[in-house]
Amino acid sequence: MKFGTKAIHAGVEPDPSTGAIMTPIFQTSTYVQASPGVHKGYEYARTQNPTRDALQKNLAALENGKFGLCFSSGLGAIDAVIKLLKPGDEVISTNDLYGGTYRIFTKVFEKYGIKFHFIPMENPASMADYINANTKLIWAETPTNPMMNIVDIAEIAKIAKQHGVLFAVDNTFATPFLQNPLDLGADIVMHSVTKYLGGHSDTVMGALIVNDEALAQQLAFIQNACGAVPGPQDCFLVLRGIKTLHLRMERHCQNGASIAHFLRNHPKVEKVYWPGFEDHPNHAVAKKQMRGFGGMISFVIKGYKLDDALKVMENLHYFSLAESLGGVESLCGHPATMTHASIPKSEREKVGLVDSLIRLSVGIEDVDDLKEDLRKALALI
Ligand SMILES: *Cc1c(COP(=O)(O)O)cnc(C)c1O
Repeated sequence: MKFGTKAIHAGVEPDPSTGAIMTPIFQTSTYVQASPGVHKGYEYARTQNPTRDALQKNLAALENGKFGLCFSSGLGAIDAVIKLLKPGDEVISTNDLYGGTYRIFTKVFEKYGIKFHFIPMENPASMADYINANTKLIWAETPTNPMMNIVDIAEIAKIAKQHGVLFAVDNTFATPFLQNPLDLGADIVMHSVTKYLGGHSDTVMGALIVNDEALAQQLAFIQNACGAVPGPQDCFLVLRGIKTLHLRMERHCQNGASIAHFLRNHPKVEKVYWPGFEDHPNHAVAKKQMRGFGGMISFVIKGYKLDDALKVMENLHYFSLAESLGGVESLCGHPATMTHASIPKSEREKVGLVDSLIRLSVGIEDVDDLKEDLRKALALI
């Protein structure tokens, strides 16, 4: 099956009891047994739920993986990955990453004796300095959030294999439509399903996809033992959202390219971060591992004044000022005070995340309206 066919059909079978073409919302906490231990494969809904099963199979297929596991949020999924580790273990992570991921690593898991190193991964060779006998996991985001750096997944996967270290990629920004880390050698793909996969800003959910059966079993054990599972209604909404993932992503990419060029040519814009530009420092890697450049763009206003950035954000209409990304509607955000506020200012500025940086999640509206919105807001400064 090709991507669009998988988005619509993978994991989804007509309901055996009625023929319903859409997977029902199995809103039940438990399942009746004929005799103790004699049942239809379902015992308790934290452990298994048919609506969730369909979604997990669908997500696995989209990432070309064998096993999918859904969690109550993206952070719930990340939590499960780190729980594979034990005190004394070390993790190497991208230094430019989602603020909540930085927070769970440093504020939760450091307390349990796990050590995290945050490094720029654009140059994979630099990683060798941080790998030692305690290194158990490499965690990468690409494109990174919000600086849109690109990490070479295949190169890092090689280094991880050489050292027997697990390699996980947060694929939230790219989505399986643009990039499949498992095909490039990663062991675990993580998604904040809340974003592009759900696609309609109406659900919070996370997912992990893997190929290795033993790893899938360990993660399924954690999923059940720790209990961060999504409800069936949310699984239904995401199954529905995914049916148009390929169509939405095509438009996100088109609109993203158009807005990136518009901003770059605007006299009041200092710098635009978007991996589709030929002079983006990692453009060649992006071209090699991605099938498009997505709809996420960051930019800095000329003069670097925070007040100017705030004024622009307050005066945009179609770009609503809100956390999150990946929905059909356009959003703008201010990483320094919103998504990345949990990262210290000194750390933020090391990667170029200045206070005047604005992040856009370009939606699938008519792009001329989006450009007009930006043009009007920029005219006010
Ligand atoms: C939103 C996000 C997360 C966290 O996911 P939640 O669903 O909000 O828990 C992790 N990584 C990235 C890149 C994100 O954008």
